[in-house]
Amino acid sequence: MNIVRVALDVPLPRLFDYLAPDSDESDIGRRAIVPFGKGSKTGLILGVAAASEQPLDKLKPVAAILRDMPALPPDWLALCEFCARYYQAPLGEVATFALPPMLRRGKLPRMPKAKENAAVTSSSSGDTVPGAGHLTAEHLPALLPAQHAAVETIVAAGNFRTFLLHGVTGSGKTEVYLRAIADVLARGGQALMLVPEIALTPQLEGRVAARFPGAHIVCANSGMADAARARGFLDAHEGRADIVLGTRLAVFMPLPRLRLIVVDEEHDASFKQQEGLRYSARDVAIWRAHQRDIPIVLGSATPSLETFHHAGSGRYRMLELPERAVAEAMPDVRVIDTRRQKLQEGLSAELLAALALRLERGEQSLVFLNRRGYAPVLACPPCGWISRCQRCAANLVLHLADKRLRCHHCGYETGIPRACPDCGNVDLLPFGRGTQRLETMLAERFPEARVLRIDRDSASTPKKWQALLETIHGGGADILVGTQMLAKGHDFPRLTLVGAVGADAALFAADFRAPERLFAQLMQVGGRSGRAELPGEVLIQTEHPDHALYQALVEHDYARFAASQLGERRIAGFPPFSYQAMLRAEGREMVQALDFLAAARSAAELLAAGVTLYDPVPMRMQRLMTLERGQLLVESLNRPTLQAFLAQWMERLYTLKMPAGLRWHLDVDPLEF
Ligand code: ADP
Ligand code: ZN
Ligand code: ZN
Repeated sequence: MNIVRVALDVPLPRLFDYLAPDSDESDIGRRAIVPFGKGSKTGLILGVAAASEQPLDKLKPVAAILRDMPALPPDWLALCEFCARYYQAPLGEVATFALPPMLRRGKLPRMPKAKENAAVTSSSSGDTVPGAGHLTAEHLPALLPAQHAAVETIVAAGNFRTFLLHGVTGSGKTEVYLRAIADVLARGGQALMLVPEIALTPQLEGRVAARFPGAHIVCANSGMADAARARGFLDAHEGRADIVLGTRLAVFMPLPRLRLIVVDEEHDASFKQQEGLRYSARDVAIWRAHQRDIPIVLGSATPSLETFHHAGSGRYRMLELPERAVAEAMPDVRVIDTRRQKLQEGLSAELLAALALRLERGEQSLVFLNRRGYAPVLACPPCGWISRCQRCAANLVLHLADKRLRCHHCGYETGIPRACPDCGNVDLLPFGRGTQRLETMLAERFPEARVLRIDRDSASTPKKWQALLETIHGGGADILVGTQMLAKGHDFPRLTLVGAVGADAALFAADFRAPERLFAQLMQVGGRSGRAELPGEVLIQTEHPDHALYQALVEHDYARFAASQLGERRIAGFPPFSYQAMLRAEGREMVQALDFLAAARSAAELLAAGVTLYDPVPMRMQRLMTLERGQLLVESLNRPTLQAFLAQWMERLYTLKMPAGLRWHLDVDPLEF
């Protein structure tokens, strides 16, 4: 009597056994439909056994084993097992998460007919070389010496090796990726390239497709239609895809001939999923490269301090691209000391003059402010009332463009009150400044200028975002006002000035990673300015002009910034000098959340050698969507020690009594505090 062991998407850390008389080992890695509770579920077969720990008469028969696609291979299942183990997540949740939704539901997409597939079939037959035939050296730029050395080193590696490709925007990192990918394709391999944002994939896809016209390129991101995503997964799995290009979820694509992984903008926080399976796609990618014994390239102008530290210690290999490939000069970065100035709506005289000069010359400017809305809060000065969210420990942001007050955390919104709800005063005042207010002010100040705001409100859909980009490229805007949305991956040829306002807040934030993020953002938005013919200028308004972060920016010296930050982290014992996990709990009352965390802390006793457990505390955003939230930080100087502790601790956490409505999760290597 055969038994299949099935991983199901349920929050329990175990597999489920079913009777399946006609199954054998070849069914491992196949989907199965099984009865569960009152209904049925689709899961993944991870084992076939002759006996079960459950009494045989308790086992139900499997409803169907789906043999309509090749079984997922052992290395893919091992990848899921690693994620389950490392992130302390139930294997069933990981395995079903790693599948595209359509396959998860037990369905298959319709595949295109063989004829449309012609290019694809030939490329996977082994002796043809996709794309490479169309590539002739004359069409490609000659590599700069540093690019050449980087490509040679990556290509020569062959086996597992983690490379950090460090170079500013425009230094030719993408060119290096493309050459390394060309080598992989020429040898019949598959390449996986991860990028942080969906918004950037079409642009990159165009560049990759133009470079490898004969190659089968598959995109993978959460914005795609179900069927397209499932088709891409099958193309990768069945070996038809040559290049997979996608956001973090693409790290789970099965790739039988995988020979190279690239993670572009490796420092980007979006590689870490912040809900459900809280995995870091960059870290999982490194594990995968190790598993498959292939090279992985992490690219960035501002690497995460973890990565930079490993490159410094020799664990990763550093590949530097010290100069820009096209523009000769880096932008001229200066700080504007705003301490002794009277600002006009938050802008200094110098920045205003610089904007006026660009208008005169017909060039573009960008004012960077990482806060959308008109003002962060609406207030009644006489009585002290401020607009607060009813569901969160947060202010309601004033959005004058559509006359709403809006919570940026939970989405709650309401109209703007005519008078103070507490005292009836009708003179309510906006406090602080967001992109809408800056837009209004700039439009008044420069009536002849076309001012364009780019943030998540104005670019709320891909279509609107595309339209905004077209306006900018078509020369339809003189002054851009935008959040970090604008910082990434777009070339604006006539942009010669970037002004940054309101940046100081991040210098003193409670989150120890805030300066790292600020540096990356300013470097990235600064990198947008200036091209070969038109040198760029970056002006940063600050009350802390001597701060090491700004000084390093002025010098374009990432290494110096990283060294100072790493020095601070070493003293404080923060990552990368320690390893962390965060247990979070949320409930109707804060006391419930904190009590649970205290019980979790007690449950750790006797397990916790080499591990520090801090006190349970309310989260910085204490209340979200009416739920009160607390957290408990766990830390160790040694990763295996932390991992061993977490595994044992989790078993105990599952047995703890929980008040109604309480939920908890564990976040390994948390990025947000
Ligand atoms: P990054 O990815 O570091 O921002 P890219 O690879 O996109 O840099 O290169 C920036 C620009 O310079 C692109 O337009 C690219 O085509 C061009 N470029 C890259 N390398 C060279 C080179 N060796 N010679 C000439 N142009 C190059
Ligand atoms: Zn809210
Ligand atoms: Zn009032």
